[in-house]
Amino acid sequence: MNDPSVTLPFPREPKYGQAEKDAVLQLLDDGHLSEINRGPATNALEAAFTRLTGTRHALSFNSGTASLHAALHAVGASPEAGVAVSPMTWVSAITAVFQAGSYPVFCDIEPDSPNIAATAVAEAADAFSAVLATHTWGIPARMDQLAKATGLPIVEDCSHAHGALYQGRAVGSWGAAGCFSLQESKAVSGGEGGVLTTTDREVYERALTLGHHPARLAAGLTLPELKPLATTGAAYKYRMPALSAVIARQQLRSLPDRMLAAEQNLATLRKVLEECDAPVTWPSIGELSVRGWYGTPLTISVRVPDPAELSKRFKAASIPVRHLYEDWTQAPLLQRPELAARFWPHVARSPYRPPTSEELPNFHKAMRQMIILKVPQILAPDYMEQVGETLATVLARTLVTA
Ligand SMILES: *Cc1c(COP(=O)(O)O)cnc(C)c1O
Repeated sequence: MNDPSVTLPFPREPKYGQAEKDAVLQLLDDGHLSEINRGPATNALEAAFTRLTGTRHALSFNSGTASLHAALHAVGASPEAGVAVSPMTWVSAITAVFQAGSYPVFCDIEPDSPNIAATAVAEAADAFSAVLATHTWGIPARMDQLAKATGLPIVEDCSHAHGALYQGRAVGSWGAAGCFSLQESKAVSGGEGGVLTTTDREVYERALTLGHHPARLAAGLTLPELKPLATTGAAYKYRMPALSAVIARQQLRSLPDRMLAAEQNLATLRKVLEECDAPVTWPSIGELSVRGWYGTPLTISVRVPDPAELSKRFKAASIPVRHLYEDWTQAPLLQRPELAARFWPHVARSPYRPPTSEELPNFHKAMRQMIILKVPQILAPDYMEQVGETLATVLARTLVTA
């Protein structure tokens, strides 16, 4: 018997609407696409991010990766001690640690969420100088527990979680710094781009020195130990193009409506799956928390003997799933320090130790059992019902006999 299939098209509006188009045309008319100082486009975007997160400072970058590099440098990631990272994240949230002159120490994720576990961080806390916590698939990391697990600075990677709250407080405001990618697949897109948020003046100024223009450094640097860098910085050239800034500014305006629609769509789906007794569980995010949107994770609660087969069936049934990330811990770059040392020579002399495939049991389990659903950001009850019923049927047929 053939599996049923989702026949309705994935509900979406054009990624960039009239507001984005108007903003771009206005910018072209103004004739300034490169703002070497904090010009009107960067200023408006950075101000919007301080309002979104309730932080004092926001600093725009040309990518989320650049913002991670700058944040890790700014909080003092050290060559002698590593940075705690999760294996379940985008690869540059691991390699940025090398970029910042340190090395990653992989910590396992929680058994019931895709996020780095405070217990794993606490166990290894002597081994690092900072923690990098991704709010993975929009699920807010347990920032209070992470802070308690170690007194070290935490950098939040908020690239999946624009607008999310943990216990009523915005992600990007809990740690020493928050980093948001504005790459096109993210909930707020500038095409490309990144934003760092912080309330710590020193973190802000240190982050400036990586790659912003001397004009901005001269205007922004006040700390005596940083002033000697005002004429050069490190000159990585990390500033955001004005085009990205004005587009992302408009995307932020529509974010609350899109988050609300996605939340309601998810509620519809969950109801259908519950009615069907589908064998799935959801990460709990707590009452005062609000998730962000980059797909949403659910865990299959019976053993999945063949994840590749299940993934094939989802595809055949047009169930909207996002791919889990690769297991970066087993990639040659992370397994062979001599490869990493080609780009970052300090790795050859660092205590970096590649993780074995036996470590990180919760992560390896999640790689088999977790799926990431793409949820539309416009209201779509019919579509969600069809996805729920189809998903429940495919799960039942694929897993019951296993
Ligand atoms: C997208 C992403 C990044 C990198 O952002 P870029 O803007 O592509 O450089 C970093 N971390 C996570 C978790 C991401 O999803």
